[in-house]
Amino acid sequence: YKPRIVLSRCLNIEPVRYNGGIVNDEFSKKLLDYVEYITVCPEVDIGMPVPRPSVLLYKKDNQIRMIEPNSMKDYTEEIINYSENFLKSVGDVDGFLLKAKSPSCGVKDAKLYQENLKGLINGKSSGLFAQKAMDHYSYLPVEDEGRLNDYWIRRDFLTKIFSYAR
Ligand code: SF4
Repeated sequence: YKPRIVLSRCLNIEPVRYNGGIVNDEFSKKLLDYVEYITVCPEVDIGMPVPRPSVLLYKKDNQIRMIEPNSMKDYTEEIINYSENFLKSVGDVDGFLLKAKSPSCGVKDAKLYQENLKGLINGKSSGLFAQKAMDHYSYLPVEDEGRLNDYWIRRDFLTKIFSYAR
């Protein structure tokens, strides 16, 4: 049995980033032979094009919202609904390996803007998909490729995904 890991699709798999890019991520590449990846790109999966204007997170009325700042189009509900449906339907998984700093996938370090979008709030946020994954699977490792550069986080992630593996 191989652990089933939800992987951000822009990590080695497909050039789906806002700028049409792909991330060359060595760690997820090394795991390829030992795990089964289920890929996800919340932004493209809700119909956003590649390339696309980048979205950002900001805080409004104590809630974190996702917008595209030029058009001010608000994607919050679409991404949240998509995330909830994905998590309900994905079946048994053993962990998440997501893209750092993304307003959708970043685990803890997405930039968070003030309501007027003129400056950053001190302190960062989880991306909307990553937050839903952590809420839904509080007992599973949910990490991003940036955090996994830390030896201890990487060791903990590997221990957990292989010990949870059924
Ligand atoms: Fe898609 Fe997430 Fe990668 Fe952004 S970070 S391109 S939403 S998979």
